[in-house]
Amino acid sequence: MKIGVLALQGNYKMHNYVLESIGIKPVNVRYPYELDNVEGLVIPGGESTTMSILMNRMGFYKPLQSFANDYPVFGTCAGLILMSEKVVDTELESLGLLDVQVERNGYGRQINSNTVDIEFELNNMNYTIPGSFIRAPKIVSYGDSIKVLAMSDETPIIVKNKQHLGISFHPELDNISILHEYIFIGATTNK
Ligand code: GLN
Repeated sequence: MKIGVLALQGNYKMHNYVLESIGIKPVNVRYPYELDNVEGLVIPGGESTTMSILMNRMGFYKPLQSFANDYPVFGTCAGLILMSEKVVDTELESLGLLDVQVERNGYGRQINSNTVDIEFELNNMNYTIPGSFIRAPKIVSYGDSIKVLAMSDETPIIVKNKQHLGISFHPELDNISILHEYIFIGATTNK
């Protein structure tokens, strides 16, 4: 199976390693036509404003939205911001794939970045993984279509909507593959 990793900006390389570790071939996507060759897409962490400017310049918005009608999209950190319905603090065009409103850097600045234990359940299995928050977005509200898979401090941090997944931290930095596996390999069984 080939999964795309949006490689316009940010930390996409770590996602390549995690995908390879679970037997998926990562394809770095830099042009919209490259979406034709993949069956899912990771939008990595980075700088959401820069990524959105580059996405606009390369004409990614419409092709990515129609790709998302058929295939799973998984966003981490800045990727979650780009997948959201609305960004409350910045003029930023988001894709509207997850019915959440987010605040950029909602947990504070770089100095407040930290790693905490995250507990959640997937397909009747319990997991505890490290969650690295790096100038992470905070989900400030969400709609009925959203399934919250994990919370921290009463705030959702892993959310799902149809076949899409958004998380505010960075499992790829801690070599955690369970969420990639869940959304891309388990996608047919976890609806
Ligand atoms: N703070 C960044 C932004 O707003 C996201 C940080 C990250 O992806 N680690 O775009």
